[in-house]
Amino acid sequence: MKTFYLETFGCQMNAHDSEKVAGTLLARGYSQVETPEEADLILYNTCSIRDKAEQKVFSRLQQFKSGAGKGKVFAVLGCVAQQEGEKIFEKAPHVSLVAGSASYGKLPEMLVQLEAGNRHVTGLSFDADETFETPITRGDKPHRAYITIIEGCDKSCAYCVVPFTRGPERSRTAASVMAEARRLAEFGYTEIQLLGQNVNSYRDPSPEGWDFATLLERVAEIPGLRRTRFTTSHPRDFVKEIVDAIGRNPVLCDHIHLPVQSGSDRVLERMQRLYTRDEYRRRIEWIKNARRPISITTDVIVGFPGETEADFEETLALLDEVEYDSIFSFKYSPRPTTSALGLDGHIPEEEKARRLSILQEKQRAIQMRRNNELAGTTLEVQVEGYNQATGQWIGRTSQNRILNFTHPEGCRASLDGQYLQVLVTRAGPNSLAGESAGENLF
Ligand code: SAM
Ligand code: SF4
Repeated sequence: MKTFYLETFGCQMNAHDSEKVAGTLLARGYSQVETPEEADLILYNTCSIRDKAEQKVFSRLQQFKSGAGKGKVFAVLGCVAQQEGEKIFEKAPHVSLVAGSASYGKLPEMLVQLEAGNRHVTGLSFDADETFETPITRGDKPHRAYITIIEGCDKSCAYCVVPFTRGPERSRTAASVMAEARRLAEFGYTEIQLLGQNVNSYRDPSPEGWDFATLLERVAEIPGLRRTRFTTSHPRDFVKEIVDAIGRNPVLCDHIHLPVQSGSDRVLERMQRLYTRDEYRRRIEWIKNARRPISITTDVIVGFPGETEADFEETLALLDEVEYDSIFSFKYSPRPTTSALGLDGHIPEEEKARRLSILQEKQRAIQMRRNNELAGTTLEVQVEGYNQATGQWIGRTSQNRILNFTHPEGCRASLDGQYLQVLVTRAGPNSLAGESAGENLF
């Protein structure tokens, strides 16, 4: 029997792709090992969204360049593979397989070639019109499962490599998504996350033609599911029906991630985001006026080419206005093939770093304030694990906050994946702490 080691970088989509790649390998008789040293086949599922992410895979490959990787087969999968293509064979001659995510459907054939000793196997075309589906395999989390509903992206944000690395949008049929969700629920999964770079532009390709809000509602009706989440939303395609659906059905988690990127109209236009600050704020208003409170999170890029101090201050003002529950913030990173490379006004790294730290400091204070408001309340968590060092269990609320808590008794295995009521006793900027208030009889 052959062994494989698979390391994943980047987003949720990559993590889920890796589950499917692992499923394909397991089905071919491979077994998964924990370290590259033990493996015959070493796979890196890569991310190229920012320069730092891309560098990681080359530094990993470097470790095996001289002798250490003898007798092993190396594969580079995902976004760096798609972006760099056959150049990877020159940069790292010990690599034998280079394949982007649109080609994973052909993985079984590519494995046959590798096993036959072929040392230059590629999967780089976008002609795979079928999305990549495999039978259910062991997911990385015991009770939360991911379902890709749409692959690729048809937007062309000026800074972003995704349309080049993941290709054009392809929606899965609603029937296939529903069948997978039902199977997962029957397997005992209680939480499902629907994934796509822009889930809001989902459109069932079959004659029923469900839109995203319809699919979301139908998934949440599947017996056995207690939580349904989705990511990522694009403000341009985000519709009020999604908020209404969350308001109606408590199985739909009360959390929306709505990336804004910048609070300045001038920057949004240069980024080709296809919405204005006011259009974005209108969507925030829908969410804030929902039937039940919904947490809101976002992504922000600072130091996009041409961003002035005044533009940056508009982003800071938007943070104050929306009071996000959490944000992911990044310094703009120039990426190959993207149109932003040709823009004027590139900003020095030190200035980007200065803006990032001002933004993060402001957001930290907002989160501290928002989280403090939750002290004294009781929230339902799904248990994700146990922290030996602190003696606390780790839970996640429906609003996607981490809530660490103590529990009077019970061994580790008995709480993982359970839903419990927890009394919040303390708040920090990034998490809450509390004590178990008993089982939830939902
Ligand atoms: N499709 C999603 C959307 O439109 O919001 C997110 C895609 S991307 C994987 C996640 C985040 O990475 C983006 O929202 C953006 O904030 C950030 N990002 C993408 N390209 C970047 C770049 N060149 N430099 C810095 N951050 C970037
Ligand atoms: Fe990238 Fe924009 Fe597509 Fe998101 S919507 S993946 S940021 S191009």
